[in-house]
Amino acid sequence: MPVKKVATIWMNGRLVKWDDARLHVLSHVVHYGSSWFEGIRCYETAKGSALFRLDKHVHRLFDSAKIYRTAIPYTEQQIMDAIVETIRANRLRACYVRPVVYRGYGDVGVNPLNCPVEVAIAVWEWGAYLGPEALREGIDVMVSTWNRPAPNTFPAMAKAGGNYLLSQLMKVEAVQAGFSEALALDVHGYLSEGTGENLFLVKEGEIYTPPISGSLLPGITRRSVLQIAEDAGYRVKETPIPREMAYIADELFFTGTAAEVTPVRSVDGIPVGSGKPGPVTLDLQKRFFDIVKDAKDPHQWLSFVYSD
Ligand code: PMP
Repeated sequence: MPVKKVATIWMNGRLVKWDDARLHVLSHVVHYGSSWFEGIRCYETAKGSALFRLDKHVHRLFDSAKIYRTAIPYTEQQIMDAIVETIRANRLRACYVRPVVYRGYGDVGVNPLNCPVEVAIAVWEWGAYLGPEALREGIDVMVSTWNRPAPNTFPAMAKAGGNYLLSQLMKVEAVQAGFSEALALDVHGYLSEGTGENLFLVKEGEIYTPPISGSLLPGITRRSVLQIAEDAGYRVKETPIPREMAYIADELFFTGTAAEVTPVRSVDGIPVGSGKPGPVTLDLQKRFFDIVKDAKDPHQWLSFVYSD
C-alpha cells in the first residue's frame, strides 16, 4: 500500500519536514539490517482518535532493542509522547504509526557498537492492509516453502528489520503464486505465523494458536484476541499445531496491527471449513472492532490523542 505523505516526521527528538527525514547511505542499518520497529494503529473511534495499546507497542520496541543490546536514548514515556506529538502535528484522525530505531552512520563493519542509535517516528493515513474485502470475505494463503527461524538463530521475539528478509521471501513467493499471504511452519514443521500476522484456528468450537516457542512475534493483536476470546467465554489453547490442522480446521484467521482480524478462506487451495469466514472468526472480529471503532474498551487499551 503506498505511503501517503504528510508534513512532518519525528527524527531524533524533533519534527522535520517529510522530505528532510533522510539518512546516510553508509548507515549501519542499510548494510546489516540493524533496526527495530513497531507498527501501531491510531483509530478514529466513536470517542475520538485513539492509539491501540500504545504502551505495549512501545515496550516491545524497547524489548526488541534490548535483545540486541541496543540502548534507546529516550524513555518509553518520551517515545509515547513523541508519537502523540507527531500525530497531532500532522492533524491526523486515523493513521498508522511507524516508530523505528536504527544504527546510523559511524563505523562500516558488522560491529554496531560505534554507530549511533537513532529514532524516527512516521505517521500516515492507512486503510485495511489486505484490502477491505479481505476482512469481509477472507484471504487465500499458501504454506510457505520457507521455514521460520530455528531456536537460537534469528530471535523471533524481536521485531527487527533483518527478520523481514524472511517475510519478504515468503510474501514474494506467495504473491507470485497468486496468493495474498503465506503461512510459515517452524523448524519442527508446526504452524507458526504469516509474514506480518499471527495465526489462529478454530476446530470443533475450540480456538488454537501457536505458542511463543513456535518462532513467532508475540503479537499485540494476538494477545488482545486471546483476552477478547477469554472474555467471551471461548476455550483457547496455546499449543503446537501440526500443519494438517490448517487443512481440517473449521475456521482460520490472522491477527495483526495491519491485518486486524482477517479470515483465511483457503490454504494451499483447500477451502477452510465452508470456504467462508466462520462464526467464531466473525464474532471475534466484531468484538475487536467494537473496541477500536466504538471505543467499548473494558481493558483500557485505547490512548486518546486529542483528549485535551
Ligand atoms: N508477526 C509478525 C512477523 C509481524 O510482523 C506482526 C506485525 N507486527 C505480527 C506477527 C502481529 O503483531 P501485532 O499484532 O503486534 O501487530
